[in-house]
Amino acid sequence: MSPPVYLDYAATTPVDPAVARAMMQCLGAGGAFANPSSIHGPGRAAAALIEQARAQVAALIGAEPQEIVFTSGATESSNLVVLGVARANADRGRHIVTSRIEHKAVLDPCGRLEKEGFRVTYLAPDSSGRVDPAAVRGALRPDTLLVSIMHVNNEIGVIEDIAEIGALCRAEGVAFHTDAAQSVGRIEVDVGRLPIDFLSLTSHKIYGPKGVGALFLRRGARALLQPLTFGGGQEGGLRPGTLPTHQIVGFGVAAEQAAAYRQIDHSRVAALRDRLWAGIERSGGVHLNGEVAPRVPQILNVSFDDVEGESLVRALSSLAVSTGSACSSATGDPSYVLRALGRSTRLAEASLRFSLGRFTTADEIDYAAEEVRREVARLRGVSPHAPGRSAPAPQESASPAGGRLDSRAGGLMEDVERLFRELPAGGAIPDGAGTVLRGEAGGPAEEVWVRFHLLVDGDIVKDARFEARGCPHTLATAAWLASGMPGRRRDDALRSGPRAWARTLGVPVEKLGRLLVIEDALRATLRSGPGRGHHE
Ligand SMILES: *Cc1c(COP(=O)(O)O)cnc(C)c1O
Repeated sequence: MSPPVYLDYAATTPVDPAVARAMMQCLGAGGAFANPSSIHGPGRAAAALIEQARAQVAALIGAEPQEIVFTSGATESSNLVVLGVARANADRGRHIVTSRIEHKAVLDPCGRLEKEGFRVTYLAPDSSGRVDPAAVRGALRPDTLLVSIMHVNNEIGVIEDIAEIGALCRAEGVAFHTDAAQSVGRIEVDVGRLPIDFLSLTSHKIYGPKGVGALFLRRGARALLQPLTFGGGQEGGLRPGTLPTHQIVGFGVAAEQAAAYRQIDHSRVAALRDRLWAGIERSGGVHLNGEVAPRVPQILNVSFDDVEGESLVRALSSLAVSTGSACSSATGDPSYVLRALGRSTRLAEASLRFSLGRFTTADEIDYAAEEVRREVARLRGVSPHAPGRSAPAPQESASPAGGRLDSRAGGLMEDVERLFRELPAGGAIPDGAGTVLRGEAGGPAEEVWVRFHLLVDGDIVKDARFEARGCPHTLATAAWLASGMPGRRRDDALRSGPRAWARTLGVPVEKLGRLLVIEDALRATLRSGPGRGHHE
């Protein structure tokens, strides 16, 4: 199998070869490895490389080199601002304004400050993801210390109006911070023209190494900050510790390249993004998140009707993309950004973020669009009559070929994988075929819906099919049960239950609740028909 197509550039980017070369020259005995704080020759040489990188990073955003502090990344930069400004000025006020769709790098330090007695206003964006500058103005209080609104949202790519928000903060004398991790290198960011006091950026989103980033602080804004760590006094005492020369030098080269490539990257990627959307849109039942707002070209976030989030992601294992699905997040919650836009939990879970970059090709985009169309159709094909579905798809074309599987062949996990890929017995048994028992459980608002169709002759099951919308384990279990039924007595269908099924198929315990829905559907099915031995 070929490696997945990488469409997750908003999560991180590969290091550009020129960046890697520059970094290598700072590592070995023959390179600029000396401590840049040392006053001997090799130390001064390393320090000079760092100052060169500082100038390169500053130039990318229109800053002066002395306005750049190197950190470990945008998370640290944002923590430094949010915690540093609040704690240093607690005697002046205890209020902060931010938005609900900020990165956790801003939300989590805000949450920390609430525990320390600060108040935080979390502004809701409109349904396209834009934070209204008027709402920011309305949230300001006499004791407001800081406003933090991101430049570009990392999930949906929407560009916030930071020029307007920064201007009104300045007019009110409130410090303004923006998290620009997703905008720097993608769209123009010029602190010479934008009224910004603090700006966070990071190297690994612009083809530089991970573990290094920067905080821009406008001249004079330093006085508003207190450091988080204390030590050797590097970076003006704001961020002490031996500077990682190789990381910083790599970041500098990446910044220089970002400035040079920005226009080319932008138009090329925009064309690929449009091509991807055109390909995905053909599936129907898709929603482009942030559609009406100005967006960066690198990010395309799409919600899919009538599919379950985890199954969608599993089915698309040939693509490296991000998802709004709870199962893939550390917190177990569906995307809070899409929820803040007003998407339902179910739709938020059934969402994919495609993010494109410098090395994305048209072939990859065409392949990705085709994979999405095929897998969405396949998953929708096993739930053609799901409650709440708008237009049932023709089931014949999309439902997989029948055929029984021997569940004992191969490892257990592999079985689930294979059952999920093939979904034997998926679809419906049409009316008029004979005595068909039907029953279902779960519903449109729930994460699982299952319906069985059993064609019976007296006590004997002649054919069995299922329709379902659910996670991969749910679909695989329903497929396994249905495909094993033909030829057996219908009473046998419930001889074993969810725990036994889970053991046989290796379904994790936290999914057991979903198997109970399958059992309910099966019970309802068996109850639905004429009694034993009775023919219609
Ligand atoms: C990636 C990202 C971060 C985190 O940056 P790190 O350098 O990984 O700490 C913060 N904010 C946004 C918007 C991001 O996209």
